[in-house]
Amino acid sequence: MLTPAPRATKPQARPAAADLLTWYDRHRRSLPWRAEPGEIAAPYRVWLSEIMLQQTTVMAVKPFYLRFLDRFPTVADLAAAPVDAVMQAWAGLGYYSRARNLHACAIAVMERHGGRFPATEAELLTLPGIGAYTAAAVASIAFNQRAAAVDGNVERVMSRLFAIEEALPKSKPLIRALTLELVPDDRPGDFAQAVMDLGATICTPKRPACALCPWMVPCEARAAGTQELYPKKLKKVSGDLRRGAAFVVLRADDGILLRTRPPQGLLGGMVETPTSAWEPSYEPAHAMLDAPMEARWQRLPGIVRHVFTHFPLELTVFLAKVPKGTPAPADLRWTLRRDLHEEALPGVMKKVLAHALGSGAAPVKTPKAKDER
Ligand code: SF4
Repeated sequence: MLTPAPRATKPQARPAAADLLTWYDRHRRSLPWRAEPGEIAAPYRVWLSEIMLQQTTVMAVKPFYLRFLDRFPTVADLAAAPVDAVMQAWAGLGYYSRARNLHACAIAVMERHGGRFPATEAELLTLPGIGAYTAAAVASIAFNQRAAAVDGNVERVMSRLFAIEEALPKSKPLIRALTLELVPDDRPGDFAQAVMDLGATICTPKRPACALCPWMVPCEARAAGTQELYPKKLKKVSGDLRRGAAFVVLRADDGILLRTRPPQGLLGGMVETPTSAWEPSYEPAHAMLDAPMEARWQRLPGIVRHVFTHFPLELTVFLAKVPKGTPAPADLRWTLRRDLHEEALPGVMKKVLAHALGSGAAPVKTPKAKDER
């Protein structure tokens, strides 16, 4: 006789911070900006790492963080440095507006707070480049204040834990409130880092390792077997994601290699850096086959995202520096960097140039970072 499949029931237990912290004490990631167990991290290090981690992975940030810290060991060193030196140390991390804000924030900490980061979320929010997420992360991790530091990882964990049906971004206030309810009085900084670690290592976007999760019992999505359906997201665009590579060539006399697109079709007649075809199956690992010239190409960390009416696009950006006098290949031309504003560059190309050369390369609104939402 067939027995009916067991019906998923709502878990009775509520998630407890203590269970997560017990797991964290055994499985915490060792990261260069983290304090040793039982210690509280230096605010400068926490802030620096959180700014670097906006839109950049932990793996990519680690070496940059260590080099940067070596060069600017304190907030006073950073504030005293010329902005060009800061930009130079930031080179390769992309999203250069973050580096400018970083420098401005260091100066503000010196001038307004005597070189000590303020401890509350409200005061941290008044500093350049610090938004809701970073303020909560610094307040909790560096000052042990109760705060809800909600990034993408935390959104995923909470959406699953409470089976939140409302779609992002509308569900953000609810997620924040539920997170804050869980923050314990005694170890808010460890709690913030524990949820981040859980999201990064166990409650991953695909195939979460629920059997290893300290919140397996109270998790509503796991009880229903619907983990991967959360977080619910508003469908933003129709059309398949396309991918491609963009090639930025900088000549020693500040010339940038450009071309004009054909008059018909998408972005007809507009100007661009050379790119590959844009296709759903494009593989950046093979991008050198599409490079416009022989050069020492550097693949930049991060990705440039742009949404056209009919499809979203992700471009991997490659940068090459070539000597003065290098001729332009056929159908391409050089434009001096200072004259870029005279070129008909579409938004996506301004993003590419800003990603490769810094936000001053062309007037562009850079994609929103976590703190700029
Ligand atoms: S039980 Fe699974 S889905 Fe739920 S929080 Fe843990 S890892 Fe995520």
